[in-house]
Amino acid sequence: MRAIISDSTGYKVETEVAKVDDLTGFTGLGRLIEKMSGQPTWVPACPCCGWTRKQASETGLMGCGFCYVTLWPIKRRPDKT
Ligand SMILES: [Zn+2]
Repeated sequence: MRAIISDSTGYKVETEVAKVDDLTGFTGLGRLIEKMSGQPTWVPACPCCGWTRKQASETGLMGCGFCYVTLWPIKRRPDKT
């Protein structure tokens, strides 16, 4: 799978998704792009940080910014009031 990435100056490069992490400095970005292509799937954990859907559901917290894309929406336990 190939991806086109660009910087703030408009410079663009087409590369294999496997090289996106090295070119951008964002660990897991290539895996995220692969996961976001094709049919949507329900992932059990964030491909970037490994935070699980269960952890997000139990704590109401996300492990990283990519969790909001990969794990959202989460089912939260009802608040105990
Ligand atoms: Zn994450």
